[in-house]
Amino acid sequence: MRLRLETKCLHLEEDGVGCDHSGAISFPIYQTATFAHKAVGEGTGYDYSRLQNPTREQLEKIVAGLEYGVDALAFSSGMAAIATLMELFHPGDHVIVDEDLYGGSVRLFSHISEKNGILFSRVNCSKEDITGYIKEETKAVFIETPTNPMMNVTDIAAIAKITRERGLLFIVDNTFLSPYFQNPLELGANLVVHSGTKYLGGHNDTLAGFLVTNDQVLSEELRFLIKTNGAGLSPFDSWLILRGIKTLAIRMERIEKNAKCIAKWLERQELVTKVIYPGLPSHPGYEIMQRQSRGFGGMVTFEVESEEMARSILKNIKLIQFAESLGGTETLMTYPITQTHAEVPEELLSKNGITNRILRLSTGIEAIEDLIGELDRVFQLALSCRKDS
Ligand SMILES: *Cc1c(COP(=O)(O)O)cnc(C)c1O
Repeated sequence: MRLRLETKCLHLEEDGVGCDHSGAISFPIYQTATFAHKAVGEGTGYDYSRLQNPTREQLEKIVAGLEYGVDALAFSSGMAAIATLMELFHPGDHVIVDEDLYGGSVRLFSHISEKNGILFSRVNCSKEDITGYIKEETKAVFIETPTNPMMNVTDIAAIAKITRERGLLFIVDNTFLSPYFQNPLELGANLVVHSGTKYLGGHNDTLAGFLVTNDQVLSEELRFLIKTNGAGLSPFDSWLILRGIKTLAIRMERIEKNAKCIAKWLERQELVTKVIYPGLPSHPGYEIMQRQSRGFGGMVTFEVESEEMARSILKNIKLIQFAESLGGTETLMTYPITQTHAEVPEELLSKNGITNRILRLSTGIEAIEDLIGELDRVFQLALSCRKDS
């Protein structure tokens, strides 16, 4: 049976054949470190929870299904997933990475991977041709699309054509759209990364990360790494993410509806000098997104007139909270320059246009009237500070 994505958030293709787990509708939490064997060679298929645990395995099957992969691995955070995949490389290997990435990935690459002898070229993959950066030692290309926080859109299939011809590993961090809106493996990527902390978990209550692949050999290499470095997700957190994913489809629909409304409203505000949302036809990535995604997501970045205004907005918001992270049921506002991108080198920030006037919204599922009401209130306050000065 081929299930639709909305259904795959709740059921596996092989579900419903028996009455496993005493008929429990909610998958049990196997809160155990180890598993007993009847005799030599007569185990249950499980040995020790660092290697595999039934709750984590159930979650991994659900996520593999959502991304059309042969295997998914669940990690204790998105960064644990990315740090593990970097173990695929050896000293001297070269990796092309997008210039506008999650700050934690930038820190990992520049402080840990470089120390381990891996070399990087930072390229604006949404604009530049990566071919010119490919060398003898190049092993992989790592991108996000749309990027964080500037929403640059890269044509996944176009990069996949190049990486396939050269035998390079193509890695896409798909956190910002979730598998509900975009499936990079279907467009030619070899490995998909998720911070499950964001849309998959969806409730701002726990951390998780995923690697998903459609390559059996790569899956075996990653399985070796996760059992060796012990970065796998705990049974309880696996259950929380399983529960979160059940509502992924309806949350994403609502979140996107709110984001579109807010983006259009922001465009009409006098203190807003720029609105960056890929679902606006004025966005340079709009057409590519229409081809490769089923939606535009819930991340809206905007620029205000001055740093004072940005700070005034952050100080006065109440219903919308000033916090890092994204992808949950609650609407959050982030100040990339001091939060997610605090450690990104100055020249990269200015090249990407990430200034002290840039604010980022992750829309939640609240009533749109309340969100617009809140923004309107804090914008009025910010405008009055302009008149005073
Ligand atoms: C949050 C995030 C990560 C890191 O995930 P954690 O779960 O916080 O470790 C990686 N990539 C993107 C795009 C993210 O937003």
